[in-house]
Amino acid sequence: MLTGLVCIVCGRSYAPGDHQTCTVCGPGGILDARYDYDAARVSLTADALAGRGRDMWRYREVLPVPEGARRPDVQVGWSPIREAPRLAAAVGVRRLFLKDDGRNPTSSFKDRASAVGVTKALEFGYQAVACASTGNAASSLAGMAAAVELPAYIFVPERAPEPKIAQLLMFGATVFRVRGSYEQAFELCRAACERFRWYNRNSGTNPYLVEGKKTAGLEIAEQFSGSAMLDGALPDWVAVSVGDGCTIGGITKGLHEFKRLGLARAMPSMLGVQAEGASAIVRAFRSKGDVVPSGADTVADSIAVGTPRNWRRALAWVRASRGSMVSVPDAAILEAMRETARLGAVFAEPAAAAAVAGLRRAVAEGIVPAGATALAVITGNGLKDVRAAMSAAGQPHDVRPDLAAVADIVER
Ligand SMILES: *Cc1c(COP(=O)(O)O)cnc(C)c1O
Repeated sequence: MLTGLVCIVCGRSYAPGDHQTCTVCGPGGILDARYDYDAARVSLTADALAGRGRDMWRYREVLPVPEGARRPDVQVGWSPIREAPRLAAAVGVRRLFLKDDGRNPTSSFKDRASAVGVTKALEFGYQAVACASTGNAASSLAGMAAAVELPAYIFVPERAPEPKIAQLLMFGATVFRVRGSYEQAFELCRAACERFRWYNRNSGTNPYLVEGKKTAGLEIAEQFSGSAMLDGALPDWVAVSVGDGCTIGGITKGLHEFKRLGLARAMPSMLGVQAEGASAIVRAFRSKGDVVPSGADTVADSIAVGTPRNWRRALAWVRASRGSMVSVPDAAILEAMRETARLGAVFAEPAAAAAVAGLRRAVAEGIVPAGATALAVITGNGLKDVRAAMSAAGQPHDVRPDLAAVADIVER
């Protein structure tokens, strides 16, 4: 059960309710949800979990959603994990697993957050939801809003790939394509939410969304603990791509909670991966200082964030896990897209493949030892960005409808 929210900067507490950030600390005062873990330990046991539905709601004791709340009835979460030995060899680790979150209803990890977002909007009595996003947060909000019959208003920057816009329009959202940066779209959305009383599914600052993201961490811990994959152990490293920092923060919180509930013993080290052209959090990690807003120039649109909102908590969790952060150039991201598909049989969008590229770089830099076991979270499906995929994959063979033309190519 949710007991309250605590500001990560000043420690001020808030009762559960419709909050965004700390009223004293402003936008930097991210609120962290707290639960009654003593009660959760009694009912959230391995036996109880065995009998529950295979979706993100199986962790209800540590989710901010009251019993009986109206939720989207599409299957979010419990995405499969598969081992990819050939990809492990290419990356340079002993064993490598992929958690395929592109299998969610709108094909990205963000569905975990949006599912909580629409549930909270209904609980607080809003008549509509809104968000500003580079793509997946928006398409997932549109999908989850359709599932609970709420109107959705979406602000996207001009750069968003077309397949993600198509999803928005298809789910019936009202789409504002803002002639400007992500930062400008973000601010316009905030102002519109205030004016029209829409619920702001604002990835960076809404305290409840990250609780949905957390379920991926709970799942990773549970899926390994209960299986033969690593004889019940967890991978040494978990690699996650980083834009605002909510995803890695959420996943780490989930892993940590599973341990706190007495259900797992170890805690993996987290590897946060950014694109070189949008690496403000990596630089803050190295300098041990604050984030300095930077450019946001990368093929990986889902992590093209110049002004990250949730870096403080992301860095705190990465450090607490004895983890690290690296950045990778776009060429390495496109290479990892090809390898993840060809050697790992999972079609990842650029931001998702960045986790694999980052793992390879971390091995090369000696951060992750070659004898380590690792998991990369594949946060979005490759069909989300067909143009990037085509630029990474090459072209088909054009042939006459003639067997000789095929033979020419096959036997060449
Ligand atoms: C949003 C997103 C991320 C990064 O999440 P942040 O919370 O912004 O750090 C990574 N991959 C994909 C596919 C995403 O959509």
